[in-house]
Amino acid sequence: MSQPVLQLHNVSKIYQVRQGFFSGKKPLAAVSDVSLTVERGSVLGLVGESGCGKSTLAKILLGLEKPTSGRVEINGEDITKQNRFELSRRIQPIFQDPYSSLNPRKTIRQIIMAPLVVHSVGDQASREKKVKEIMDVVGLPSRMLNAYPNQMSGGQRQRVAIARALIMKPEIVICDEPTSALDVSVQSQILNLLGDLQRELGLTYLFISHNLAVVEYLATRVAVMYLGRIVEERETEDIFRNARHPYSRALLDSVLTPEPELGVPDTQLGTEYPNPINPPAGCAFHPRCPDRFTPCDQSRPVLQESGSGCVACHLYTNATALPA
Ligand code: SF4
Repeated sequence: MSQPVLQLHNVSKIYQVRQGFFSGKKPLAAVSDVSLTVERGSVLGLVGESGCGKSTLAKILLGLEKPTSGRVEINGEDITKQNRFELSRRIQPIFQDPYSSLNPRKTIRQIIMAPLVVHSVGDQASREKKVKEIMDVVGLPSRMLNAYPNQMSGGQRQRVAIARALIMKPEIVICDEPTSALDVSVQSQILNLLGDLQRELGLTYLFISHNLAVVEYLATRVAVMYLGRIVEERETEDIFRNARHPYSRALLDSVLTPEPELGVPDTQLGTEYPNPINPPAGCAFHPRCPDRFTPCDQSRPVLQESGSGCVACHLYTNATALPA
């Protein structure tokens, strides 16, 4: 059995937010009691609509936010007390928009080399060698060393972001919607590149996307998030063949829209995504669920084992439902 690289144990992030000028603060649970494991050399796809908490989870992993409770481990070591500098050696992001994530005043050489400089790795000659090697690995010609981001295409800029993320050989890479800001024709090239690199270098990814179809190609397992909670998690093949949770099935039905630039899939669920400050009682999905029945608006289903993973839905059991 593979070793876990990343483990989240009951991680929650609660913000106190004010809805109006005169109103008091109310809790907003962006992430609730999330437990996940990512094994070495595997890809966990994390999917859900905008606002489901997946980006907050990414911020916690990158040290940009502290969890309110719970524990995050990389190779068995609790990282919630490590600062961003220490963490950036071990965990690296690839963000959605390669243009805004690259400093426009720096050359490609400076951008890719920056992590080596910041962490004092090697001398100038060895850094230069590493930069050229990683550019070759991600398919960037060395004649671009002195180019600036605005002289490159969106796909080339994302290759720069990937090179910068990999140059420190991180233990895990957080891919946060890495293709959704790119032209459709370039998206598949970047997905193929990420897949090839993962297999050839044995990389471990947490791959965040709003779209199940995008993670199908890469993910070993898929976790589906709704209103801050994991509602289903299982092997990729199993979830695509036989998704249990009604929300997972709705996401599957919504796969790549004809207009991917819209960014958010049409889930055909009718009712709007609920306000996380006033989440629905019982199962948070019940106002939109086509399969809801008597206990769904009164008690919250817990995540329970099912097939190659787990699911939180009364259709599979209601014996251990929690009060809302
Ligand atoms: Fe639908 Fe009920 Fe399952 Fe929630 S618990 S997903 S409302 S059937």
